[in-house]
Amino acid sequence: MLLPKLLHSLLELKDDLLDFVYPQHCAICKKYLRREEKDVCEVCWNSLETLTDPFCPYCKSFIEEADTECSFCKSRGKISIENHTKGGEDHKILIVRSLGRFDEYYKELIHRFKYGKKIPLGKRLGQRLGETIDDDSIFLKSDFLIPVPLHKSRYRERGFNQSDILAEGISKATGLSVLKSVLKRKKNTKDQTNLSREQREENVRDAFVVSCPKMIKGKKVILVDDVITTGVTLSECARMLKQAGAEKILGMTIAVVTD
Ligand SMILES: [Zn+2]
Ligand SMILES: [Zn+2]
Repeated sequence: MLLPKLLHSLLELKDDLLDFVYPQHCAICKKYLRREEKDVCEVCWNSLETLTDPFCPYCKSFIEEADTECSFCKSRGKISIENHTKGGEDHKILIVRSLGRFDEYYKELIHRFKYGKKIPLGKRLGQRLGETIDDDSIFLKSDFLIPVPLHKSRYRERGFNQSDILAEGISKATGLSVLKSVLKRKKNTKDQTNLSREQREENVRDAFVVSCPKMIKGKKVILVDDVITTGVTLSECARMLKQAGAEKILGMTIAVVTD
C-alpha cells in the first residue's frame, strides 16, 4: 500500500507549506494559531469534552465499564431490540466509546479533518480517543481495530479513508493493530446526512463484505468510524463480521449524535 502512504505524506507536506505561508486560525475559536499549534489552539483542545464511559449504540445510555450489555435495551425485551436493530437479532455491537457528543466543536474538527483533508488532525483525534481507553480492559483486549471502509470511488475522490487515519491514531495510543483490507464496501452508498433511520438502513443494507473470513473467525474486533448517529452503519458492518465468525464486536468513534 505504497500509494496511499505517499498520497498522505504529500497531503501533510502541502499542509505544512500552507501553514508556513499563511498563518492558520484555530478551527474552533478562530484566533491565530501559534507556530507550534496546528489546526486547533491549545485552550480549545484542552476544553473539548471527553467522555469516559462506553454507551449502548442503540439507545445511547451509558454502561458501567464491567458490564457489556445494555440492561435498558435488554429489559425492554426482544420487541424493543427489534426496533433498535431491525430483524430481531440481539445487539450486534455490544458497546461503543466516543470522545464526545457531536457538538459544534467536534463537528468543526471532523469537518476540517475530512473535507479540509487535515490528516494530522485526524491522527491526533484518534490518538486522543485511544488514550481514553487506557483503563478499559474490554477494549484493550481486542484483537484488531477495523476501520469502516469507503467505497473505492469515494476513496479516490477524497484521497484517504477518514476511519483509517482515526484507527492509526488509536493504534498509536493503544498498540492495537489495524486491519484494513478485510472489510470492504462493495456498494457506493448515498451520503446519510439527510436520511431517516429507515432510509439509512436501506442505504447500507448489504453494502459491506468480508473478504477474508478466516482472519475474523473467533476474534474480538473494534469497528472505527468518525461519527455514530443511528448506529445503522456500524450495525451493518458488525452483521457481516458476525457472519464471518467474529466473537465480539465493539465500536469507537470520535463523536456521538445523541439528540
Ligand atoms: Zn481555539
Ligand atoms: Zn441500549
